[in-house]
Amino acid sequence: MQTLIQSVLTLPDKVLERDGLDPHSLESVDVLLTGCQIQAVAPAGTLPQTADQRVIDGRNKLLLAGFVNGHTHSSQVWQRGLIPQLPLELWLSNVFESTPRHLDQLYWGAVSTAVDTLFSGGTCVMDHAYVIPGQEMETVAALVRGYRSVGIRAVVAPLMMDLPFASGFPKGCLLPQSASPRAARELLALMEAMVAEFHDPDHGIYVGLGPTGFHRCSDELLAGCADLSQRYDLCLHTHLLETRAQHRVAQERYGIRAVQHLATLGCLSPRTSLAHGVWIDEADIDDLARAGATLVHNPVSNLRLGSGLAPILKCRQRGLNVAFGCDGAASNDAQNLLEVIKLGTMLHTVTEADYDRWITPEQALQMATVGGAHGVNLGDRTGRIAPGFEADLVLYNLDHPSLLPRTNPLQLLVLGRPTEVVEAAWVRGRQLVDQGQLLTLDRETLHDALRHPPMASPESRTQHHAVEPHYREVMLNRP
Ligand SMILES: [Zn+2]
Repeated sequence: MQTLIQSVLTLPDKVLERDGLDPHSLESVDVLLTGCQIQAVAPAGTLPQTADQRVIDGRNKLLLAGFVNGHTHSSQVWQRGLIPQLPLELWLSNVFESTPRHLDQLYWGAVSTAVDTLFSGGTCVMDHAYVIPGQEMETVAALVRGYRSVGIRAVVAPLMMDLPFASGFPKGCLLPQSASPRAARELLALMEAMVAEFHDPDHGIYVGLGPTGFHRCSDELLAGCADLSQRYDLCLHTHLLETRAQHRVAQERYGIRAVQHLATLGCLSPRTSLAHGVWIDEADIDDLARAGATLVHNPVSNLRLGSGLAPILKCRQRGLNVAFGCDGAASNDAQNLLEVIKLGTMLHTVTEADYDRWITPEQALQMATVGGAHGVNLGDRTGRIAPGFEADLVLYNLDHPSLLPRTNPLQLLVLGRPTEVVEAAWVRGRQLVDQGQLLTLDRETLHDALRHPPMASPESRTQHHAVEPHYREVMLNRP
């Protein structure tokens, strides 16, 4: 089955390669899809139409490669609007207390994340996924079922940790110690079982390694994840230096930079993506860039939790690949990629006076597509509108009032406030959205599930009180 999209505006692949320096970079093209792939891209009106093709009129529309949501936690859909405004370490206690622990909830969390991603221009999600202790395989099965029911491309990287909660705090040894989670060896065996059961690249479902972050992981676990990433060609995804507290933990525990330590454990490669990096320095950026790794920029979450501004302009200047992430809905309260891209594009003007270095809309789209695809270890499959790439595409309606008047559609998409502009979307050549409607699942069933949760809604209980005096003492009173 072929689909021919005629006379549609797009950002040519060559512009993305040039890092988007051309402000008037849109071209009108014909795009031919065959099976799950893009077969041809040619100037508008030049690809012949045949009888068995589905033809889509692309006039007044913009076609872009689907964005990648490079970092989120799908279970947190149930916690949006729930957690008070607190710094990460105190926010986390609230999150743990109210985490949904029913498989049905986790299924709907995946569905909701997938739907919100699609309708904000995304075609791929990195789910750094909470898994129910003792029901790890069942949890991943529920998440995969959720992603398959929508049809989105998804990488499921279960959160893994083998050090107790207190280890994430500076001077954490002074805190009451809870029991350690499962041992590294056990977790790594579980991950291998998940790869065997769920990793399915031919159908757009991938397993990733998701050690929570160095602050909660032993060297054995981190090195074991690096080994599995190499052996099975899997994305290794982890939180990195999100907060000043984590920066202090690294100094206390290793005596060298956290990034240096991760490098010695073999954790940095082109398959590695690291969420946040708010507290990385120039030496870290150079190490990460040299390894070909990706930093995932989560601007909404970083502001919501007071984590700080990640040095994204420096990353780009020093050749480090950058992607965008929504982060979970407990630290974002939404899952809108266009909102994240807008904020992540504009945020850095306040730290850089040289306006030639500010991120352009074209560069932002490069980060969201090509950058995002590399970050989930899928740079050879998705993120570009070019022959041979899989057809992960989003068609925007330029006649929608939020994209009028017809000035620069790219700029309006990135810097404006586009609403309900996704007219069609394809993942691996399969059309998931048509005329603004999801074809694969009745969205009303999702809304019903959110209205009437399968289990009682979680309640926010301010459990951070136990660790708050310690946090205040080590982070505020003794900076
Ligand atoms: Zn996160």
